[in-house]
Amino acid sequence: MSDSILEQIFIKRSQQKKKTSPLNYKERWFILTQEKIAYYDFDPDKGKRKGLRGHVDIEKIKCVEAVQPEPNCPQERIEPESTTFDTTSSNSVSQGVVYDEGPLYIFAKSEDIRDQWIKKLKELVRFNKDLMQKYHPCFWVDGVWLCCQQEVKQAMGCKVLDHKNGFASKASQRRCSRKPLPPTPKEPSRPLPPEPPEPAGPSVGMTVIAEYSYTPKTFQDLELRKDEEYTILDMSDDNWWRARDKLGNEGYIPSNYVVEAKNGLEKFNWYCKNMNRSQAEQLLKTENKDGGFLVRDSSKAGKYTVSLLTKSGGGSCRHYNICTTAQGQFYLAEKHNFETIPELINYHQHNAAGMVSRLKYIVSNQAQPPSTTGLGYGEWEIDPRSLTFIKELGTGQFGVVKYGKWQGQHDVAIKMIKEGSMSEDDFIEEAKIMMKLRHENLVQLYGVCTKQRPIYIVTEFLSNGCLLTYLREGLTQHPTPIQLLEMCKDVSEGMAYLESKQYIHRDLAARNCLVDGNGTVKVTDFGLSRYVLDDEYTSSVGSKFPVRWSPPEVLLYCKFSSKSDIWAYGVLMWEVYTLGRLPYERLNNTEIVDQVSRGLRLFRPQLANERVYSIMSSCWLDKADERPTFQELALTVQDLLYELQ
Ligand code: ADP
Ligand code: MG
Repeated sequence: MSDSILEQIFIKRSQQKKKTSPLNYKERWFILTQEKIAYYDFDPDKGKRKGLRGHVDIEKIKCVEAVQPEPNCPQERIEPESTTFDTTSSNSVSQGVVYDEGPLYIFAKSEDIRDQWIKKLKELVRFNKDLMQKYHPCFWVDGVWLCCQQEVKQAMGCKVLDHKNGFASKASQRRCSRKPLPPTPKEPSRPLPPEPPEPAGPSVGMTVIAEYSYTPKTFQDLELRKDEEYTILDMSDDNWWRARDKLGNEGYIPSNYVVEAKNGLEKFNWYCKNMNRSQAEQLLKTENKDGGFLVRDSSKAGKYTVSLLTKSGGGSCRHYNICTTAQGQFYLAEKHNFETIPELINYHQHNAAGMVSRLKYIVSNQAQPPSTTGLGYGEWEIDPRSLTFIKELGTGQFGVVKYGKWQGQHDVAIKMIKEGSMSEDDFIEEAKIMMKLRHENLVQLYGVCTKQRPIYIVTEFLSNGCLLTYLREGLTQHPTPIQLLEMCKDVSEGMAYLESKQYIHRDLAARNCLVDGNGTVKVTDFGLSRYVLDDEYTSSVGSKFPVRWSPPEVLLYCKFSSKSDIWAYGVLMWEVYTLGRLPYERLNNTEIVDQVSRGLRLFRPQLANERVYSIMSSCWLDKADERPTFQELALTVQDLLYELQ
């Protein structure tokens, strides 16, 4: 068969669709294609495939995992070393009828074969809708899950998928701050998974909950009230979705102000989605209340952590994972079990029950709404009269940058473009594209004022300013390994997004990253260098050209690509781990061009261990195509962070 990806003879367990049907095990010829797993009868004597016995559509698969051997499965049918895998295809919606195809158990002859199939299947199902975050590690036999004794076949799994093996659903990826990254096809000959649905999270027709209130900025916008429900009508623009409120009003809403009504925690003030450990500690310490607490997504997908500050004993933060019993109940430090997380939190607001303190004071990050793309749907030209200038932030390549307010209430940064410093018409064209780029690790472009001179570029304001200065002066105590790696992770995720949009930064460096009030790092000035009118900056032999951040192919042939951004990212990591030292500080630009093209590389900073240094070094491979992608880097950095936490 031309389109078969894998073929193998396996033992298949009957699917026990009825509770009373006996279990049996039959040899079947399995063929995996891009669309389905089909299984056929087969003649063992002639080694020939016969009639089709059944199939599972790839797009309906929700989970692919190894299953622990079944204690009472017939030994003679299974080799001692054999193991099983399970493709649970369930709950597909067909003509309005929800039915359950149940788990499909297949027994392989060796672990190698099993692993090969699991790996391939996971690749194929990676972007399926509704992938499960939890699964049953043992079999469903005679009406009961052997792992958790639940008697409902559709009961939610009792084990959370390991993030390294399982692919969490897109919504959960969003929640646990591992952003959904589109695949980077490496081998064109390999069958590619279907295009990932964009954007992550809710789909048209779904109900969402407003995490923040939003006041309409244009007549096309719809007002959002915090905690209220809305129906999504149109998602064709990633950033502004059309929605309907309960009264039937329709209009555009900023897509990052709402979340899919899913885990039910969004409406609680104590739930801080997308917050990591150090941000939680920073927020708790800023509030500085004894018993101050919040609940955040744990670094393990689908799990939650309670972060709690106590002031006794010098004031420290403790982090408690919310655990789940085999029956799916929740508990914290001691075994007081609850059906839901809100019930559990409510209990611990009154009882310490094993923790250092009871949960006395809710610390919330929900007061500050995130930035929207533009200041209202479809608006990218901003009326300069709506801007108030408050103070000067600094001077850059294009002139003065000021902090100000838009309509007297929204913080903004305003770049006042010095005349003659920018190729303005080209930039204004480009700004329309830049406006559409939205990621929590990119500084958001809100709009431009182009009807007067100087023109203004209005962006999100980040109160901790430039990353380079922050590294040199802003980090008061000794930064922890987690803090430094988190900065690198932030940048890698913003850059992975740009890479997925085939957008090249061209001037990635710590000076072009900014830090917000929570310590989150965001990348700025992407693509802007193309509009600079200054030969010293644009020519690779110019004194302002970022020679220290450039790979040999840029220095020698001006060949920019996402891979030249990768090189710069390695140098940026080096800046982070040296707390802002100048790369190759003893060399001048001419010496750098000469030495780097002959193989010289930056040394390992003292704060970077071998693992961290190997990540930065991989960005400095001579051959551009051997360097990792940002998608790969983001995952590597995240994996290292998991290990540290
Ligand atoms: P340019 O890109 O024109 O060279 P910069 O982006 O370097 O200018 O801006 C100059 C300085 O202004 C930066 O070092 C930083 O301190 C400050 N700044 C720029 N943009 C922002 C912003 N969005 N939020 C906070 N500070 C900013
Ligand atoms: Mg800049």
